[in-house]
Amino acid sequence: MSEAHQNHLPQHPTKPAHSCSVDVLVIGGGIAGKACALGLAQLGLQTLEIAPELGAIVPTPQGSQWGQRIYAFSPSTQKLLAHLQIWDALDHSRLQVVRDMRIYGDRGEQHDQLHLSAFEAGTPQLAWIGESNLIEHTLDQASRFQNKLERLSDVVEKIEVSDTVSTVLLKSGLSIHAQLVIAADGANSPIRSAIGITASEESYEQNAVVANWHCTYPHLETAFQWFLPGGDIVAMLPLPNQQVSMVWSTSPEHAAELLSLTPSQWSDRFMSIANGAIPKQLGELTLNSTPAAFPLRKIRATRFIGPAENPQVALIGDAAHVMHPLAGQGLNLGLRDVSVLLNIIGKRESFRTLNDQKLLRRYERQRQGDTSALLWVTDKLKKLFSGNSSTEKQLRNWGLGLVNKSHFIKQRLIERALGEIHFD
Ligand SMILES: Cc1cc2nc3c(=O)[nH]c(=O)nc-3n(C[C@H](O)[C@H](O)[C@H](O)COP(=O)(O)OP(=O)(O)OC[C@H]3O[C@@H](n4cnc5c(N)ncnc54)[C@H](O)[C@@H]3O)c2cc1C
Repeated sequence: MSEAHQNHLPQHPTKPAHSCSVDVLVIGGGIAGKACALGLAQLGLQTLEIAPELGAIVPTPQGSQWGQRIYAFSPSTQKLLAHLQIWDALDHSRLQVVRDMRIYGDRGEQHDQLHLSAFEAGTPQLAWIGESNLIEHTLDQASRFQNKLERLSDVVEKIEVSDTVSTVLLKSGLSIHAQLVIAADGANSPIRSAIGITASEESYEQNAVVANWHCTYPHLETAFQWFLPGGDIVAMLPLPNQQVSMVWSTSPEHAAELLSLTPSQWSDRFMSIANGAIPKQLGELTLNSTPAAFPLRKIRATRFIGPAENPQVALIGDAAHVMHPLAGQGLNLGLRDVSVLLNIIGKRESFRTLNDQKLLRRYERQRQGDTSALLWVTDKLKKLFSGNSSTEKQLRNWGLGLVNKSHFIKQRLIERALGEIHFD
């Protein structure tokens, strides 16, 4: 039982055979699970969230050291957080607005770039950059005051689905009965496998090395990205206080090498790529975090609801889809799953139960298109820009400049990055 929130559930079940019933069970304590559980409870549904790390509130980030996990948040994510009454509670001094995105080939030439601008798109900003912990902390705080929401630090070991109810057995011995189960249990989703949903999976054979840097030149509220020969991609995302967050996607061997570089070796490395474009743009860079690496892969669940014959479970977030971080969209897509699910459940006809097949199919139908399109675009961009042949090199450099001349394509790219979502 969660030390933080224990209202109606039995005390920590040291002995097996305790059980309880809820309307919805959310499995997973990442941002997708936390946001979904809070939103469902705000709809008045008795909700239980389970994950191993829910015992304590994620500490609020503070000071000059910034968190390791930094995300680009799209306007669709902002809308969901505002709907959950989280957005205004965030410490906005730790959020950086992005007004421009500049994407380059490896020659570092100004005319090779694709430039997306909030001004041209007629929108106040393209995205915000901030720490994962900032959002998680505020979601944790809001969850404490939501009396329809219980949180439990535990691990799901087994799920059984009958015609009307799902029963989930936890490591502690507690069993939970729920009308609807939301699997937000991440890329390796044990629930996805347990209910027989298969997933296509492909490794990019790359790791993303992330680190935060102070820069001597202003970043001008711009997110920069360079596509390099051999498939490396370096993104520099703006942060407050003249900092940038780097995401360098590269081979696992090169990633291991990057993790062990000294400060002067880092400067040499930055000088050696794209004709020194990074220091030309951002000045001298000083490391302000411990670099870390994450393996990159693409995953897509074949279905977003299951089991096939009698769906009672909906997949959201990385449990349903994982993509390359080059577009900074993985979590944003997962939070659009949450928005759509909240909309569908919130507007359901009074005669429909939470696990009504039609409701769940509505959710799956509405999420297929957005997910397929974003996974496809991200995957194709990654592969198109990885090649080393002279045609691919030209495409990488001139192609960006050509796309830059098309207002139509740029507008479509921006629309995809903003991600439309409405709450009624
Ligand atoms: C380098 C990098 C950069 C990225 N940048 C961006 C970005 O800029 N913008 C963006 O939108 N996305 C970005 N992403 C993607 C983003 O990190 C993920 O999409 C997001 O973190 C997924 O959140 P989630 O809540 O779905 O899953 P997770 O955060 O993985 O959470 C899964 C949860 O399930 C729990 N769990 C697992 N098994 C069980 C079990 N048996 N019982 C109970 N609980 C269980 C776990 O403990 C955890 O709490 C990036 C990814 C990488 C690797």
